[in-house]
Amino acid sequence: MRELLHAVRDALLQEYALLGPLGFWKTPVAMSTPEHATGNQDLFGQPQPPPEPAPADPYARIEALIPPDSPLRTMRSLDEVARYVAETVLIPIDARRTNPVFGVGNPEADLMVIGEAPGAEEDRQGEPFVGPAGQLLNKMLKAIGFEREEVYITNVLKSRPPHNRDPQPDEIEAHLPILYKQIALVKPRIILCVGRIAGNALLGRNGSLRALRGKVHDFHGLPVVVTFHPAALLRNPQWKRLAWEDLQLLRAHYDRLMGTATR
Ligand code: URA
Repeated sequence: MRELLHAVRDALLQEYALLGPLGFWKTPVAMSTPEHATGNQDLFGQPQPPPEPAPADPYARIEALIPPDSPLRTMRSLDEVARYVAETVLIPIDARRTNPVFGVGNPEADLMVIGEAPGAEEDRQGEPFVGPAGQLLNKMLKAIGFEREEVYITNVLKSRPPHNRDPQPDEIEAHLPILYKQIALVKPRIILCVGRIAGNALLGRNGSLRALRGKVHDFHGLPVVVTFHPAALLRNPQWKRLAWEDLQLLRAHYDRLMGTATR
């Protein structure tokens, strides 16, 4: 018994010596940076590693914009997403379309082109940009060295709005996650939005085309150029010079990204 009591006493003394009185060290220590510690230094002026960066992968960041309860989250291929779009009525115009207009082109394209919504001919054929605006889009792409087949072309809305009216905000909100998923799956290096509506919808802005065009935007780490819609260029050929400047800006940025710039 005596040995047992001594052993307990020794153990208690040892803990006291190691931990200090009343074991105060067990109180959690606040991990925030003290106010007088500056930059990446700790309290004692020692350099500290920089804070964790946000995920660098733009596609993971864009996929994270899809609502967590959306079935799109678990889809793994463009075909699966296209089937979901064809079978699902998310907004009233989905029930009235002749065909869904999902997207066309290279599923691993470096360049993705985004328009606003299908027109009559696209609704009939189930393919984006097949009418007169599509013919001009093909020429615009060719002028900067891309064939239609090598890029991926889609729209913000996958269904035709009646009488070609502008997409409504609730329609854009309902279909945008499909576009986010397409971007996450195709993984383009650069995006071209044609028209104010596509540019504003993707970038979450509400600007004029004048405010959107002529620069390279950053969409969660992906470069985006916005230019005139080809249908607007058909009606206003005097804007073609500005569109050409935007296309050259896109091509120069693309070449720099791919390491193929000549200067
Ligand atoms: N206009 C668009 O924005 N998209 C099409 O697919 C056709 C015309």
